[in-house]
Amino acid sequence: MQTVSAEAGTADSSLRQVTILGATGSIGLSTLDVIERHPERFRVFALTAACRVEEMAALCRRFRPRMAVMASTEAADRLRDLLSNTSTEVLSGEEGLCLAASHAEVHTVMAAIVGAAGLVPTLAAVRAGKRVLLANKEALVMSGALFMQAVVDAGAELLPIDSEHNAIFQCLPAEHLRDPAKAGVRRILLTASGGPFRQTSAADLHSVTPEQACAHPNWTMGRKISVDSATLMNKGLELIEACWLFNTSPDKVEVHVHPESIIHSMVEYVDGSVLAQLGSPDMRTPIANGLAWPERIDAGVGSLDLFALQKFHFERPDFDRFPCLNLAAEAFKMGGSAPAVLNAANEVAVAAFLEGRLRFTDIPVVIEGTLAALAGVDADSFEVIFEQDRLARHHAEGLVRNRC
Ligand code: NAD
Ligand code: MG
Repeated sequence: MQTVSAEAGTADSSLRQVTILGATGSIGLSTLDVIERHPERFRVFALTAACRVEEMAALCRRFRPRMAVMASTEAADRLRDLLSNTSTEVLSGEEGLCLAASHAEVHTVMAAIVGAAGLVPTLAAVRAGKRVLLANKEALVMSGALFMQAVVDAGAELLPIDSEHNAIFQCLPAEHLRDPAKAGVRRILLTASGGPFRQTSAADLHSVTPEQACAHPNWTMGRKISVDSATLMNKGLELIEACWLFNTSPDKVEVHVHPESIIHSMVEYVDGSVLAQLGSPDMRTPIANGLAWPERIDAGVGSLDLFALQKFHFERPDFDRFPCLNLAAEAFKMGGSAPAVLNAANEVAVAAFLEGRLRFTDIPVVIEGTLAALAGVDADSFEVIFEQDRLARHHAEGLVRNRC
């Protein structure tokens, strides 16, 4: 976060070149929507995507980036054919992603690839000292201490895009973002929508389908994060994310289920003041905040109608029906590679659920089993993290096969 390096208050209104990692996704498209509203401020330098070639071609024709990166060489070859009459250079693979994220002309990188695949290119942006807009929470969860150290070492500017963390960022004093004691913070109140199964009985959770899990009541998001929201693992990952970003511990972060998703999180101070950030559930608000920080720009989001809303509700999370929240807190306390193991097992279990190979209620079973088998080892290098991620995926796949 600015947190860590940038000179607070620098308002550079010159044209900024932006790379969007994960441009075809929900966050990527919302970022392009905000950028398109401000042609005098932002220019798209590079767009990247996994495999949606036609969509990427359409985005490239619209935003005319210098570079486009696809995950595979096959997808890149197809995109190159479609863009043969343009000046966009088409690259592929991790090398291409890292180049797009670290290029000297790039000012801001939106890290919006989903899952562990986002870690290496996000890290490339960090190491190149960019303004990094962090949507890809999995990267930070996997490698927390190493990632934050890389931010400091490179003098990068890390700004949280996850709506809750962006809310907390907005409620904290800029000069003490990573020093809660100095800021006078008593605790952080992390809000959660509760997901689509907030009121579903434990018995009924056994038979929920991927379509039901992806039908989030308030947010439109990619399928993986939608399932994470349904299991509350998303809140577990966000708990870990908050601890790293704001240099705090899980006992200082209390999850409040707030089904309206209007209060995006709160900070309570020692004098009893509670600051909250409110807004419609639209990711363009935190994205615009990160793109323009410390200035404010139009995000295309309308005014909040509190008269229409009338009431806000709050509940404690149900840890019995949604064990993932506690699994995440435990993994953070275990430390070392445990959060990377948790994340990898979750990615495997969620993919299996989305493919109809695993029951919804077996997602935490697979994660717990993987965590138990791979006790956290010291995470003193990224190589260790990548190896633990690989071992955890292998172990979790075995558990998925056993549960089918
Ligand atoms: P999404 O599935 O809609 O989009 C993911 C993007 O990543 C796509 O562009 C896809 O092509 C790309 N991608 C996927 N796998 C890849 C790979 N192996 N290599 C290269 N590119 C790959 O996901 P999303 O909902 O936009 O979420 C993106 C990230 O932002 C996630 O980490 C999520 O947790 C986080 N986030 C999302 C929201 C939201 O409202 N959608 C809110 C907060 C945080
Ligand atoms: Mg969130």
